[in-house]
Amino acid sequence: MSALESRPTPPADLLVRGAHVLDPRAGINAPQDVLVRGGQIAELGAPGSLPDDGVEVVDGEGKHVFPGFVDPHVHLRTPGQEHKEDLDTGTRSAAAGGYVAVVAMPNTDPVVDNAPVLLSLREQARREARIPVGFLAAVTRGLGGEGLTEMAELRDAGALGFTDDGKPVHRAGILRKALQYQRLAGGVLCLHEEDPTLSGKGVMHEGDVSARLGLAGIPSVSESTLIARDAALARYEDGRIHIQHLSARESVEAVAAAKLAGVKITAEASPHHLTLTDQALLESLDTRLKMNPPLRTETDRQALVEGLRDGTIDCIATDHAPHAREEKEVPFEEAPMGTTGLETAFAAVYTELVLPGVLPLELVVDKLSTGAALLGLPLPAVQVGHSADFCLVDLEAEWEVGEHGYESRSENCCFSGRTLRGRVLATVAAGGIAYRERAFAVVA
Ligand SMILES: [Zn+2]
Repeated sequence: MSALESRPTPPADLLVRGAHVLDPRAGINAPQDVLVRGGQIAELGAPGSLPDDGVEVVDGEGKHVFPGFVDPHVHLRTPGQEHKEDLDTGTRSAAAGGYVAVVAMPNTDPVVDNAPVLLSLREQARREARIPVGFLAAVTRGLGGEGLTEMAELRDAGALGFTDDGKPVHRAGILRKALQYQRLAGGVLCLHEEDPTLSGKGVMHEGDVSARLGLAGIPSVSESTLIARDAALARYEDGRIHIQHLSARESVEAVAAAKLAGVKITAEASPHHLTLTDQALLESLDTRLKMNPPLRTETDRQALVEGLRDGTIDCIATDHAPHAREEKEVPFEEAPMGTTGLETAFAAVYTELVLPGVLPLELVVDKLSTGAALLGLPLPAVQVGHSADFCLVDLEAEWEVGEHGYESRSENCCFSGRTLRGRVLATVAAGGIAYRERAFAVVA
């Protein structure tokens, strides 16, 4: 059962000439010609060695080809909040960021908590999505935190897994039941970890900066204590959990401890938590910097980077969360939580962590797609016989985020105005050309 949906696109016939192919999992790290025929990778060869008859030729010299990125955590706001984003604009934004598949969260209106809603959403994706989209269904009905959804039925209808993202599964007894049903239904339980009795009305990280600004804070332990609880429950029920958007040092420690104890647990971190801290709010109370979990301290940020390096954190996920301009153009305390992230994910991590030598490029390219495997999806590979799922990137290109607008319907990007290095020039997803940068010329 393929649970990913996208609109039909013509299969590409394409020769990318001489780009540096970096596919860490396939062990390729060298300039290559990449020949795509009928949407499949037909041949790899030394630069200039492959035939170009009947195919479009793209000059890849000085550029990089990476396996396409896969994001296990995006909000496409469909159904019900299409003024923020829809399946077309959201997947256009993803393709512009080098993504070849994304997984959408169920906190829509209505909530994706029953099979008919999920099935009609999948059908809509078959008409509108520019790259394959998968869907998570809710753990509890209406994200109410009380009654479980029909998990087995939702799995049959194509749900990749379950989450109440935006909210925690606050009651331990409910999560325990969900873990028990998981045995029958399968699918990963993806968890937004936050104890609402600790988060309260917090609007940013609780610490020195929130004290200076006089704003209510969300303490790190709001996240880490729930991770510890849920890891214990998963261990007790032998369930499989995935922790969403890790933000705090204590949370990295909790996940590491759980892994050491043999819990079936994985975790993700976002580009913004890996590269920004709450110090940014001292410069400006920009509502684009308001998200949940919040930007935390330098110590937390470094712990996340270390966690990514040592494998405690399994993948990078954007938590792309579009909001309309008028929704964000309000005082900081009142603004909704969330930042967009699909178009800036690679460039932000490349600029802030790879260029300064903090993380190797191979690791970042790997972690930008490993989210696929965590949800049971195939990993993109630049290998002969595989479907063409890759992006062409110019690592030299410098660009100002937002200068030419966004492919997303929303513009609440926390990196807005920053100069980043690394630009996605084209994305081939599921064998079809999903994105091509405006300025990017075709040779023949
Ligand atoms: Zn969340």
